[in-house]
Amino acid sequence: MPVGSILILPGDGIGPEVMAEVRRIIDWFADKRDLKFDVSEDLVGGAAYDVHGAPLADETMARAQAVDAVLLGAVGGPQYDDLDFSVKPERGLLRLRKEMDLFANLRPAQCFDALADFSSLKPEVIAGLDIMIVRELTSGIYFGEPRGIFEEDGQRVGINTQRYTEAEIARVARSAFELARKRSGKVCSMEKANVMESGILWRAVVSEVHEKEYPDVELSHMYADAGGMQLVRWPKQFDVIVTDNLFGDLLSDVAAMLTGSLGMLPSASLGAPMENGRPKALYEPVHGSAPDIAGQGKANPIACILSFAMALRYSFDLGAEADRLETAVETVLADGVRTPDLLNEEGKTPASTAEMGDAILAALDASL
Ligand code: NAD
Repeated sequence: MPVGSILILPGDGIGPEVMAEVRRIIDWFADKRDLKFDVSEDLVGGAAYDVHGAPLADETMARAQAVDAVLLGAVGGPQYDDLDFSVKPERGLLRLRKEMDLFANLRPAQCFDALADFSSLKPEVIAGLDIMIVRELTSGIYFGEPRGIFEEDGQRVGINTQRYTEAEIARVARSAFELARKRSGKVCSMEKANVMESGILWRAVVSEVHEKEYPDVELSHMYADAGGMQLVRWPKQFDVIVTDNLFGDLLSDVAAMLTGSLGMLPSASLGAPMENGRPKALYEPVHGSAPDIAGQGKANPIACILSFAMALRYSFDLGAEADRLETAVETVLADGVRTPDLLNEEGKTPASTAEMGDAILAALDASL
């Protein structure tokens, strides 16, 4: 019996290069841990446009809806920049997020000790950092109506609307509380209840869900601007942070860059539970298709590999195996293996994408 099903969408640019390393790791789990996944592969982004004239074919969308987890590499590239907006590679990704209704975006910011010097913050502020930002992804100011640029009294007015229903707030709050139960049991909710009605409602609904369903989790509230300050001042005070779409967009980028390179950052986007109890899920590195280094064996595959570790933990309930994979990555970094993006010293020889994969597989072997 396979553990579950995975649809791999490598996409464009470095997407296929980093995904090749993930495939080797999936094979390792099948061979060495007897954890076999039912894996299929399809096209997304520019690669799908080249074949189907659309960045995500309807059949691919249907397959994504049917599997336990989708793993995506990256989409986009300069050759697609002049395409009509409706068929741009990014539209493939947006369609997946929208039709799978992936309302909770999980962005961990974790600092591996070996890379503590890489951060713009002092090593003692950053070493051992492990926080998780849960961003509401399908509502809020990026979607609210009315929106647009209108003519008013002889001048243009730009309008966006922040709008949240109770149900939208409650479901993302539940995602955060569930995560906290699997971590250190602490959630900090961030909004601007001091100046926004949507923030007042956000705070009230998060508190209600907490009181009724998760009294065992420790909940605190913070204004999002103060939260931004605290993230840079002393990030280790946080464990799970839950916030809306706009604030989450900003805060997760700040938190992510505390830890160094874009090539290290995984993400997960989760939706409602399916019939088998697993959430709809899409896992992807935070980085894009990096056309400047594509095809040169320079891409760091760790962000994509850590995204697969998140899939092990959140889709397949294999937390111990996720730990094993994350520890293998940590070991390799401690041993000094570095793709070019992780090198700031002269004279060191960088590892290629495949060599980084080799090293992680060797560390996995050593973990047995
Ligand atoms: P990018 O993330 O692709 O690259 C930014 C910089 O980081 C580049 O210098 C790149 O070489 C480097 N980088 C990124 N990932 C790396 C990795 N794994 N290893 C080593 N270095 C890495 O962002 P960009 O240059 O702004 O965008 C390039 C293309 O990617 C555009 O078409 C953009 O639309 C698309 N994009 C896609 C996604 C996605 O698929 N989720 C996200 C962002 C951008």
